[in-house]
Amino acid sequence: MKYCSDCGSSVVLTLPEGDHRERYVCNRCDLIHYQNPNVVVGTVPIHIGDDGLPRVLLCLRDIEPRHGYWTLPAGFLENNETAAEGALRETVEESCAALEDVELYRLFNVVHTNQIHIFFRANMPLAQYSVTPESSEVQLFLFDDIPWGELAFPTVHKTLVDYITDRTKGEFDVVMMDMDHSYWQHMSSKPK
Ligand SMILES: [Zn+2]
Repeated sequence: MKYCSDCGSSVVLTLPEGDHRERYVCNRCDLIHYQNPNVVVGTVPIHIGDDGLPRVLLCLRDIEPRHGYWTLPAGFLENNETAAEGALRETVEESCAALEDVELYRLFNVVHTNQIHIFFRANMPLAQYSVTPESSEVQLFLFDDIPWGELAFPTVHKTLVDYITDRTKGEFDVVMMDMDHSYWQHMSSKPK
């Protein structure tokens, strides 16, 4: 950052007294600008079709980053909402889908982008959804039809891989893991 968010003067990167890492500090008003990770919250919306087969709802991103790639509904957590509330809000904003039975599923430490990604499992009783300003297409996919090579983010890819494995087992453990940049090499296919 270059300028103070309060008074607009220039900032300098320096170690404030008593702190343990450098911060941007205003040259005029001495405001210390703390920068912390962002939290991304999303859902794995599952709809059981009339044929009894599970389908997952994916959204084709009509916004950057990763415009034109498929994602689980997800976005930045806002102030004054819980993680689950944010995940449901993002699902509505990106797909207009109504979910229930929301359960915590995955937490990813994405240290290289200064983010935490949290995904919730959720049931989607009705196959009702639509495109939105953020999604140019919204579609239910049978697991065999998931466009693995066209997914937007590593954490979306990993969450879907794990979900399908867990659904086969019938057990959905909550897992926290680190996601680093090397996962991008897996993004063109479904890992074995
Ligand atoms: Zn200032």
